Amino acid sequence: MRKILILLLIIILTGCSSREEVLPADIDESAELEEDEWLEEEENSQEHEGDTPTKPKEEEGIGYQDLKDRILDKYQGIAPSEWGENLEGVISEIQTDEKIVALTFDACDGSPNSYDKKLIDFLIQEEVPATLFIGGQWIKENQAIFMELAGNPLFEIANHGYHHKPLSVTGERAYNIEGTKSVEDAFDEIYKNQMLIKELTGSYPKYFRSGTAYYDDVAVEIIQDLDLKAVNYNVLGDAGGTFNKKQIVKAFETAKEGSIFLFHMNQPHSEICKGVQEGVRLLKERGFSFVQLGEYDEFLK
Ligand SMILES: [Zn+2]
Repeated sequence: MRKILILLLIIILTGCSSREEVLPADIDESAELEEDEWLEEEENSQEHEGDTPTKPKEEEGIGYQDLKDRILDKYQGIAPSEWGENLEGVISEIQTDEKIVALTFDACDGSPNSYDKKLIDFLIQEEVPATLFIGGQWIKENQAIFMELAGNPLFEIANHGYHHKPLSVTGERAYNIEGTKSVEDAFDEIYKNQMLIKELTGSYPKYFRSGTAYYDDVAVEIIQDLDLKAVNYNVLGDAGGTFNKKQIVKAFETAKEGSIFLFHMNQPHSEICKGVQEGVRLLKERGFSFVQLGEYDEFLK
């Protein structure tokens, strides 16, 4: 019996220590990443690998170019047949009877003063967990803030694209924003941000939402091939930051078991913070609690 207890203790301790390795605490926050510097390093390291067989991505990190070639081989020349937010393979809710909802917040472009500190401080103060979909240019503009958010277990970091573009293989547009133009372009939009986040936090995100939340069906398959899930929403929380407080609270009132809300955390001059403050109180009163997507990964649909 004592032997079994000791064995259990060892398993628990090893589990804990391997978890700590992916925490961002060890990463030098002051190290500014130059455009594509990390990408070149990755490409160079690939050259030295020679003929060694490629290891699965989750083990070692398969090289950027190798992965890109595979995606190009598989999808080059395939014409998409659908374009939109609600395609097959794009997740919009958590399938559950539990009284839980997931709040997701997008950090879109990297323009200055594009951080809603009041909103995030409110989530921290009220201990409301959330999933943050963060764009590559936002990370570069707000790197110190990004490191703080990534180091806070209340928040799960997800990928909102490197240049915040609709994800297309043919340059389709959404809200007058031109989408990625090719398979190669779509790959870069997803994977450059994966690599940037991995470089800074030690972990690859598990979820992707394109800029504008539009995709074509080929792009959705590419996302899945890169070990990601495309996640949209079924409650439009702030309509791109255009809702006033009243409209945001109304959106909260539509919450059901397993709802995924879409908000923005890059619009400090909007009424999002005020609306979320009241909406969170309302849902708490109704007995809902808040979860990160990763906690319900197998129930995402
Ligand atoms: Zn966005």
